[in-house]
Amino acid sequence: MDLGRGIPRRCDCGAAPVVLMSNTARNPERRFYRCGAISGENHVFKWFDEAHDEEFVVVANKLATMEQDLADIKADLADMKNDISEIVALIECLRDGENWWLKVGEELVGYWPGKLFNSLGDGATIVQWGGEIVNLETGGKHTTTDMGSGHFADEGFKKSSYFGNLMTIDETNTLIEPQGVYPTTGHHNCYNIKAGDAGSSWGVNFFYGGPGQNERCP
Ligand SMILES: [Zn+2]
Repeated sequence: MDLGRGIPRRCDCGAAPVVLMSNTARNPERRFYRCGAISGENHVFKWFDEAHDEEFVVVANKLATMEQDLADIKADLADMKNDISEIVALIECLRDGENWWLKVGEELVGYWPGKLFNSLGDGATIVQWGGEIVNLETGGKHTTTDMGSGHFADEGFKKSSYFGNLMTIDETNTLIEPQGVYPTTGHHNCYNIKAGDAGSSWGVNFFYGGPGQNERCP
């Protein structure tokens, strides 16, 4: 019978092995494992010292594998932490009379020439916040492009991406909390959105995003 490596746990016949001591001239007082039920060709026999030497190697290998798994998990966790970042600065879109500027905190990031917004010169009828991806359906499959952090909205704070304290700016540069905001999504199995109920310090808020291609979004 094939015993495998290390300490024999069970004989093929189902019996638990026992430890006995040899009293032969060749192996005096040498301990061995033997089938607890039957002594015979198709039942466990293994020298105790050899079994334990093997067991040591088996356990050492298992430990090395576990250490590697742990290192992998730690690396994944570090990746995840890097993915989770929070822009706490106020993001503003401002018009300086001619151009539209994007301002993050105190920093002006860049501008869109005013002439691009020929129909927006006197105001907008809708304001949207959220994420957008390009899905070319290469090979008939949905893109694997992440939206947000790549986590679904219902995974919540510290995993999912979010917008908080949504405001619009009126013609007098006054911040106004938007009314009647509603969530909408194109492919809810690929990316989704959840209106926030995190509490008043979050203002009007929502969680959104997803991994793109997955089991439910082939
Ligand atoms: Zn047996």
